[in-house]
Amino acid sequence: MSATFTDDLTPPQRAAAEHIHGPLLILAGPGSGKTRVVTRRIANMLAHGISQRQILAITFTNKAAGEMAERVQSLVPGTKVWISTFHRFCARLLRQYGEAVGLQSNFSILDTGDQKQGIRRVLSDLDFDPLHYSPDKVLWRISTAKNDLLTPERYQERFDSSVGDHWQAVVRRVYPAYQKWLLESNAVDFDDLLLHTANLLAENPELRETLGDRYRYILVDEYQDTNIAQYQIVAAMAQRHRNLCVTGDPDQSIYGWRGARIENILRFERDFPETKTIRLEQNFRSTQAILESADALIVNNTQRKHKSLLTDNTAGEPVQLLRFEDSQHEAEGISKQIRQLLAEDGLNWSDVAIFYRVNSLSRQLETTLMRQRIPFQVAAGVAFYDRVEIRDLLAYLRLIDNPADQAAFLRIVNKPLRGLGKTSQDRLVAWAGQQGVTLLEAAARADKISKLSKKAVLGFKAFAGMLERFSLASSGSVADLLTHVVDKTRYTAAWQGIENEQAYEHLANVDELVNAARQYDEIAGSEVSLQGFLEQTALVSDTDKIQDDAGRVTLMTLHAAKGLEFPAVFVIGVEDGLIPHERSKRDGNRKEVEEERRLLFVGMTRAKQRLFLTETRVRSLHGKTMPTIASPFLTELICEKVDCGTFGGDTLAAWSRVMQGVPFDEDSQEEPDDEPQIIESSSPPASAQPVAPALTTGAALLTGAGATAPRLPLGFAMGQQVRHPRYGRGTVIEIGGFGPRRTVTVAFADSDRKETFVVSKAPLQPV
Ligand code: ATP
Ligand code: MG
Repeated sequence: MSATFTDDLTPPQRAAAEHIHGPLLILAGPGSGKTRVVTRRIANMLAHGISQRQILAITFTNKAAGEMAERVQSLVPGTKVWISTFHRFCARLLRQYGEAVGLQSNFSILDTGDQKQGIRRVLSDLDFDPLHYSPDKVLWRISTAKNDLLTPERYQERFDSSVGDHWQAVVRRVYPAYQKWLLESNAVDFDDLLLHTANLLAENPELRETLGDRYRYILVDEYQDTNIAQYQIVAAMAQRHRNLCVTGDPDQSIYGWRGARIENILRFERDFPETKTIRLEQNFRSTQAILESADALIVNNTQRKHKSLLTDNTAGEPVQLLRFEDSQHEAEGISKQIRQLLAEDGLNWSDVAIFYRVNSLSRQLETTLMRQRIPFQVAAGVAFYDRVEIRDLLAYLRLIDNPADQAAFLRIVNKPLRGLGKTSQDRLVAWAGQQGVTLLEAAARADKISKLSKKAVLGFKAFAGMLERFSLASSGSVADLLTHVVDKTRYTAAWQGIENEQAYEHLANVDELVNAARQYDEIAGSEVSLQGFLEQTALVSDTDKIQDDAGRVTLMTLHAAKGLEFPAVFVIGVEDGLIPHERSKRDGNRKEVEEERRLLFVGMTRAKQRLFLTETRVRSLHGKTMPTIASPFLTELICEKVDCGTFGGDTLAAWSRVMQGVPFDEDSQEEPDDEPQIIESSSPPASAQPVAPALTTGAALLTGAGATAPRLPLGFAMGQQVRHPRYGRGTVIEIGGFGPRRTVTVAFADSDRKETFVVSKAPLQPV
């Protein structure tokens, strides 16, 4: 019977899929069938009578996990193997066994905003000035320590006062206090999910055995991106039965910046010396032209072993580098090229993907695709959950579920405004600390707190009472609870009946969250729980909502594209400073530049038939329009250059004014091809542009896609410097709305403040 699962595999693929017992390492390049082998191997194990409950498969994103589970189900109908991400797996484990590390089963998973709040609090308790010690930097160091499995105690041993720099001295004090704050909140941050689990397993032989017996067969896909903590977790569970299979490609390791260690491959071979290693060399995904180009790029990495990648696929069209004047022309050129792919190559919208190095590059694309009536979806799941209104409402739900959650309490106690200002909150926090009670308990007993105004006492008590009533209503449908919370708190009241794009967007986001809760209710069925929903939202990844067959072009970052494949791929902005990203080039850090090269390699090898790279001559980033420099990677990979720019007439004149004498790069002044010639007369005012609301997708709506435009009739442009009489100097970071409802969002330089203004009424001056 097992033959049915493996007979259409190549001999090495089959050897991997039919290997059941003992450690297995599958090392192979992109598109060689690693993920396919994992699902076939699971099916084959099931066919050999291994119970589905003994198998655990781990992969990198929720989307990949969902697809693998579906694949296994279609191979062996009626089965349900647990396929998860590391973070979800750990969350589930900690709900059951977390008591040993001081967690109750209803712990919260904090987001970065909450983490920062905690760090600020700890910094100020320890008398460090948060202005000098940026919470971001401190958190970054703590996160790195956690990924390397350094608990506060181990960190203190490793960097005792005789070694280590000033920052380490700070972290030595802040880290333990931050962990204490988390535990008092009955909360974990993202990295804790791994750290606590790894520690539990390391310190608890019985648990190690229990789990080792339960998950006798463990598979890890995308192994090249595991960090030390993740490795320790699977290695500990597989210690006894030793059935650990990992698949990966060192050339696709792109999360070094988040602690991933390619050395985990060496460590695996060392810890499991009886490992069988299988290499797959045939690529089933891409044309020869695409593979050759990607290979020509990746051979420039010095820290790698050569791998040959062969394919029986067709030679295919050459990889094309499309060169444009600026990002607007780039977006229009891509739109035109996509239409051509549909008309001439018989592709569908959903066959096309556009990747970028940084999210900010998607804005122009979204506006243009919308205007060109090209349906699209944006992989921006994380950004959605980062919105203020979403985080506020989730904080309500978190506080209902976990009354000890301090970050959630402080986030919403005065939202909507209840007259509970910072001074009152500080007094409450101090009192709760002295009494050893949660902030919510302190609020319920606010009359005992001296120095609180009468109004504050009433406000806190009313708030505690309301939360109490919410808790009573919290079993059953999450969507109903959420709607109830929105109603009772009058959270959206300030936006109701206001004719302003920003208000519409806030309301639409709240609706979208209720929808997400409703969907969760439906999928969870009888297992519905507030905790389950909160966990899902806390562990969201960008690609969660992306549908393969949605009839839409897909936009995502290069990082999110890992593991996926599309018939046609555009990688945009292949320019120096974007890819390789400028951060990677500081201090001539070769290792980081190599990671950038791998990132481009990952992007390119997603393409099956057609691959386009783009660059522009000038680009606006961080509020400045600058001539670009070609990415050094372009001299390495193999491509055909297609000049899509024309610098004649008005455009040239306009740009030479902008650039004030910066000479044009000769290369891009070549005679324009008669191929994509995509200059519209000029950019018409946004209010006159046709929009295609029918084609706006949920995801597009969430990112505010329909509301943004590159250059504006009212004089403000993305990145423009402006001055506000009260807030000072700032940069335009977002533009929304149309006509009289046009809004701009400005990030002010002297504060963390971001404010949105209706342009026609705002006292903003260009500077
Ligand atoms: P990546 O490193 O990018 O994650 P991968 O090694 O996991 O790639 P898969 O995604 O498993 O590769 O496979 C790439 C494509 O090749 C898929 O469309 C898969 O269905 C197809 N494929 C793999 N093996 C075979 C095979 N033996 N016969 C036909 N198609 C195959
Ligand atoms: Mg794969």
